[in-house]
Amino acid sequence: MTEQETYESFLKDFEKIINTDSASENLDGVVEVAAFLKEKFEALGLEAEVTREGERGVPCLKACTPSKNGRYDFMFIGHMDTVFPKGEVAKRPFKIEDGRALGPGTNDMKGGLLVALYAIEKLKAEGNLDKVAICVAFNGDEEVGSENSRAWIEKTAENCDRVFVFEPCRPNYRHVMHRKGGGAVYITASGISAHSGANPERGANALVELAGHIPAIHALNDMDNDITAQCNVIKSGDKFNIIPDHAELTVDVRISTKEEADFVTEFFNKLPDTNYVEGASIKITGGVDRPPMEYTEKTMAVWDVLHAEAAKLDIDSAWISTGGCSDGNWTAAMGIPTIDGMGTVGENSHREDEYMELDSILPMIKIVANTCLKIVDGQ
Ligand SMILES: [Zn+2]
Repeated sequence: MTEQETYESFLKDFEKIINTDSASENLDGVVEVAAFLKEKFEALGLEAEVTREGERGVPCLKACTPSKNGRYDFMFIGHMDTVFPKGEVAKRPFKIEDGRALGPGTNDMKGGLLVALYAIEKLKAEGNLDKVAICVAFNGDEEVGSENSRAWIEKTAENCDRVFVFEPCRPNYRHVMHRKGGGAVYITASGISAHSGANPERGANALVELAGHIPAIHALNDMDNDITAQCNVIKSGDKFNIIPDHAELTVDVRISTKEEADFVTEFFNKLPDTNYVEGASIKITGGVDRPPMEYTEKTMAVWDVLHAEAAKLDIDSAWISTGGCSDGNWTAAMGIPTIDGMGTVGENSHREDEYMELDSILPMIKIVANTCLKIVDGQ
């Protein structure tokens, strides 16, 4: 294909998958996107299968070139689900305006799925695909935390030497090398209910017990590191004249390193040791369940090649750290060099004004394909 043909073919495929509603809850829609892409990968000679993973039977697409003794040079990760409900496409279908593609999932991350596909197409067209072993893994529940596909992703990653995640690239070609990890901590307080006017001495106020812990939790934010712990949801009490015997608090916790994760876990485990209201107590559930995406020297080595390949196209790429999680958090925690933000350039994910920059399509395809080739040629 000429560059113009690649561009036009990309847009045709893009319109098709953008105009297929595929919210994480809409399994039929995700299956439709998976089936469309499966055929595309098969046409390039990859062996592809769509399986249903986890309790919910989430559709997951795997497409692989022949391995090198069971191993792959690269794993290409992406997600086929979006945050937008069924009917969103009817409201605002795929559209091109002022050099941008608009529609549900243009930025997060259907553009990235096609960068992965067309980078492989480019390697194949130039006769280089048999040098690079690639395993593509697209899941269908990333936007709801990948609960059903996490094991599938980790199992697939075991055989891969490096991971590219095709979440959107930020404006001005900023990729993602570090993501915070985190989770939700649930604190449940139990006490004793009583009439708050007639017999307050018989009660143990669960809400007051719970509230006593909030300043210490909030103080985690003020320490000289990257920990955030926000007390965001609190529930307690039914009637104004009854001392509540139950109260619940949910804390959104984010951490930047494994050490911080351990520190926060220990902090919450010790929290019940402190007591504010006699007869009341707290219990902790949940915690940091998504590890941070950290980079290593090996990740930096991949980055150096990526950066050099972008420079050949007169693109001065850079990398950033972000608070949001992706499936790259799992693979980085396994010690596999992981670079995210390998998709098309755009902004405003999860919003109606999300967009993808059309002039990033061809450069991103080239950067991905050339980086893969350069790395295997150099090893
Ligand atoms: Zn995403």
